[in-house]
This record gives sequence, C-alpha cells and structure tokens, in this order.
Amino acid sequence: MRTGQTQLFIPGPTNVPEVVRQAMNVAQQDMRAHDFGDLTLPIFADLKTLFRCETGRVMLFPGSGTAAWEAAITNTLNTGDRILIARHGQFSTLWAQMAERLGLVVEAIDLAWGAACPVNEIARRLGADREGAIKAVFVTHNETATGVTSDVAGVRRALDECFHDALLFVDGVSSIGSLDFRMEEWGVDLAVAGTQKGLMCPAGLGILGVSDKAMAASRTATMRRAYFDFADMAAMNAVGQFPYTPPTPLLHGLRRALDRILREEGLDAVIARHRRLAEAVRRGVAAMGLEIVAEHHSICSDTVTAIRVPEGVDARDVIRIAYDEFNTSLGSGLGPLNGRVFRIGHLGDLNEAMVLTALSVAELALVRAGADLRFGAGVGAAQAHFAAQRGTAPRMQ
Ligand code: PLP
Repeated sequence: MRTGQTQLFIPGPTNVPEVVRQAMNVAQQDMRAHDFGDLTLPIFADLKTLFRCETGRVMLFPGSGTAAWEAAITNTLNTGDRILIARHGQFSTLWAQMAERLGLVVEAIDLAWGAACPVNEIARRLGADREGAIKAVFVTHNETATGVTSDVAGVRRALDECFHDALLFVDGVSSIGSLDFRMEEWGVDLAVAGTQKGLMCPAGLGILGVSDKAMAASRTATMRRAYFDFADMAAMNAVGQFPYTPPTPLLHGLRRALDRILREEGLDAVIARHRRLAEAVRRGVAAMGLEIVAEHHSICSDTVTAIRVPEGVDARDVIRIAYDEFNTSLGSGLGPLNGRVFRIGHLGDLNEAMVLTALSVAELALVRAGADLRFGAGVGAAQAHFAAQRGTAPRMQ
C-alpha cells in the first residue's frame, strides 16, 4: 500500500497540473462539427508561439515524439538520402536507427555519451560535402539520456557558412516548452516535441514544427507515408480538423497547459525557472560528491540531470529503493548507462520544494544502496542556492 503522493522525477511523462487534469475532464465532442476549430485553431497558433516560429506551421499527430520523428523523415526525404547525425545518447541513437530502418543512409558521428553535438565537426563535414549529398542534419537539442543540451544555433551557422541546403531536423522532445528554443531564428525545418514533458500533459500527441522549406520538400519527397502525410494533415488543419480522430480531451489539456505557459507564467519565466531548479540539482549532486554524465557545465541540461553512482553501487538499486521504500520515481540509466546512472527529471510543473524532495530521496536511496555520503549535503547545497536566489544570505554549516 502506497500512501501520499508518488513523487515523479522522471524526465517524462511529467507531473500534470491539477488544472490541466480538470480541463481534460470533458464530454466527448464532434470533431467534424463546424466549430471544432474554435478549440484547435488557437492551439495551433499558440504552439507556433511556443516554438517561436512566425512562418511555417505546427502539426499534431496522435502518437508520441517518436511518431513525429517518423512524420518528419517520411514527409521530407527520399529513400537513399544521406543524413548527418551525432550519436551521443539513447535518443540520438534511436533516431539514427529509425532513419536507417526507413531507408536513409546515415552518416553518424559517434561520440562519448555525455558529449554535445559537435558543431565544428558538423561544419567540417558540410564543408566537405561539395555535391550536396547530405540532405538533412539531425540534432538532438536535449539528449534526455545524458542530460546534455546542444547548440542548435551553432549548427544553423555551420549550414549557412557552408551555403549548405540540407534540412535542419531538431529533436526538441525534452526541450521545447522548457528550454530556450527558437525555430524561426535558428532556421529549424522540422522541430519535434511531445505533449508529455515540458507541456505537462499526458503522452498522446507528437508535435511537429514544419518550416515553409520543409513543407515545400514534402511536395516532392517520395518516401512512402500514409497516416503521417503532411498534405492530408495540412488540408484538414486549415479548417481546424484532423484527417482522423484526435484525442479531444488531450487537446483540452493542451489548451490549458499552453495558457499556463504562455499567459500565466510566461515562456521566459518558465525557461528561467527551469534554469534555477536545474542549477540547484547540479549543486546538490556536486555536494553529494557525485559526477554527472554531461562532460562540461556549459552543456548541462536544465530539464534533466544524469548522475553517475559511486563505484560499487548499482543505480538500479537506487531507483528500486526510491520507488519501493520512498514512493519516488527517479529516471533510469538508458542503454550502456543502465546500472551506472540514475536521472532526475526536473521539467514541467515543478518547484523548489519538489527539487528538495528529489535530492533528499536520492540521498536516502543512495545510502540504502550502499553509497557512502553525508545526509543532507545535497539538499543543503540546493537550499543555499534557493536562498541566495531569493536574496537571503545562506547560513548553512
Ligand atoms: N527524443 C527524446 C529526446 C526523448 O527524450 C524521447 C523520450 O523520452 C523521445 C525522443 C521519444 O519520445 P516518445 O517517447 O514521446 O515517443
């Protein structure tokens, strides 16, 4: 029997605010009614604001981020096209795998898990590609497996400096709506997100920002697609409808979540809050004497931190103990990081008190799993950070 609320510190799905949950408690409605667009058209417009794009469009595909990955690829590329991608974590690896399975030629740059997308190497390869064989560059803006944020603007600069015409694909599943993301300014052609992370909703919709250039590419791209066809989606979206049945309660939740982000808290404030909370997590982890997976502080993610456990401790035990004994979910280490890393997701509907809980339970579970650390070290460092942020001199120790 579990009492109290389960504390959720996985990097998605994230906590759904009560107002968003309530907003989803609606009767089913006619998605072919003439006024269905009263719900959907403002959502499409608000998503463009969230993605920071003036031109282009944002589409919603019933599915998840992975569905939006596939929609992006199959609508804009041709079988046998070459794409350039850095593999530096589970999600960039899976995206490259999907591209291969769909018939693309993947030029991968393999890096240590913990590195960021290597802008200079991307620039070098684009510069060497005189025939324009590379049709797309894929960037994982925020590698959720390692807690690393990459420089999308830098990749855009590399493309521009080489006068390279490749499409820029960006996975923003764990960044859009939480981190600074600028689709228009960075010239992103396809931007992938999902409802279940920064957007604080349940999973169920893959969200895809599509530039005018990507839309034009979709008119000639010959890769096979049916469910995900942009043309069908765009035609129906023009009148606020979908080519198939959308999850209407989720759309109501998204409506409410967008109001919260864009109108109540404000996107800049949301981004600043994520920065503040993430910094507290990082300070807490450092004070515990633990290392993070991100190779450098300049690339640390503000939505998730991947933490290495001390020698002799199994991260799976830490996660199991946190869950079984303290009703708290921490994120697991993915792929080769399994057993060596646990993650704290700090995105979505989160505040200081919740971060202190995450650090406190992580300390408890680590000690119970055999780690030698001093109780309170991590929590204290985070408290000091929060106190300093509020303008109060920290008085710990
Ligand atoms: N890309 C990133 C960076 C992710 O973190 C995830 C999921 O965690 C995905 C893609 C896959 O998204 P989904 O699980 O919504 O299909």
